Amino acid sequence: MGAQSSDLLDVERIREDFPILEREFGGEQLVYLDNAATSQTPEPVVETIADYYRTTNANVHRGLHQLSQEASIAYEEAHDRVAEFIGAEGREEVVFTKNTTESMNTVAYAWGLAELGPGDEVVMTEMEHHAALVTWQQIAKKTGAEVKYIRVDDEGYLDMDHARELVTDDTEMVSVVHVSNTLGTVNPVGDLADLAHDHDALCFVDGAQSVPHMPVDVQDIDADFFAFSGHKMCGPTGVGVLYGKEHLLEEMQPYLYGGMMISKVTFEDSTWHELPWKFEAGTPPICQGIALAEACDYLEDIGMDRVRRHGEELAAYAHDRLEELGDVDVYGPPGDDRAALVSFNLGDVHAHDTSEILNEFAVAVRAGDHCTQPLHDKLGVAASARASFYIYNTREEVDKLVDALEATRELFA
Ligand code: PMP
Repeated sequence: MGAQSSDLLDVERIREDFPILEREFGGEQLVYLDNAATSQTPEPVVETIADYYRTTNANVHRGLHQLSQEASIAYEEAHDRVAEFIGAEGREEVVFTKNTTESMNTVAYAWGLAELGPGDEVVMTEMEHHAALVTWQQIAKKTGAEVKYIRVDDEGYLDMDHARELVTDDTEMVSVVHVSNTLGTVNPVGDLADLAHDHDALCFVDGAQSVPHMPVDVQDIDADFFAFSGHKMCGPTGVGVLYGKEHLLEEMQPYLYGGMMISKVTFEDSTWHELPWKFEAGTPPICQGIALAEACDYLEDIGMDRVRRHGEELAAYAHDRLEELGDVDVYGPPGDDRAALVSFNLGDVHAHDTSEILNEFAVAVRAGDHCTQPLHDKLGVAASARASFYIYNTREEVDKLVDALEATRELFA
């Protein structure tokens, strides 16, 4: 692959684990820059999935037979592995869900419906993903609570003075995105958790774009709840994580009811299984959970500090190259202070057109509102194109993106 964006990462070696990157479209090799939506899956994780179905597939918790016991142990230990990866105390604090969105809804329904009422406030940010924004908005409507939004300034940073104004003793929940999937801003979530706690409020952190890209320690942040998805961090689709402080999960009622999450059931009433199973009703994402644990191993073998540095370097390089084009609007903080993605618009060309033309060059980027419609309204655009990077991307791929953008510009000139 020639010169790499980071001599710390052996990108050439890493790419061997991702045969999908060899695919060609119209004679051009795929340049996959849609990692903030879903990352690719390395061979060891694919092998884990195949191996599970070849050798271990059975339902968990219920069975006394050997296969079920093996599947149960692997599934339970996957919780331990994920707990370790994010610095949680243990498996009691790690609930496997379907995705970040379901983790968010679990807290909104299980905690929000019970705890919120008229006079209470939920404070979010203007850069929240719909997963948080729509969910708290709707829970607020159901409970009579009010939602407020911390301002995003012109550079794409949170206005922390405004945060200190908004968070008051009426605040019950501060729900903030760790890394913006549109702006690439890395938010000071530790400070926001402290601010919430100063007012006896809780703090929910949406870590969908942080856990895949940087070392995260939920206890260090002091988040009360924390959510992320397996499919953005080399894991499979169908599994997400809800971290919650044990005492909070203990106090909360379940969100979904049914099998597996109960302890004793009579015709009149039921009691709940211990954590985290109380929040995992029905047959859980067994294979996906086990594969997610493998993804954690894979990333940790590379080293999360290196993963972070590589993504930041590519984003900085892409940011600068896009700015050089002159007629490109790049959103969010400066190149040297952003996570591994860059959202932009090329002149007057609609982002959907940009993305379609880039596709002709086998360059895969996302176009749309990236589930941040209100933020796009604030930016004054309906949509943007987004290039997002991961461990297997190179500077040469950024160059291909820029070349394809130049060709796009020619087409629309
Ligand atoms: N939050 C953020 C910041 C995201 O980027 C995403 C995915 N685009 C989500 C939440 C939702 O993730 P999922 O679709 O896996 O639930």
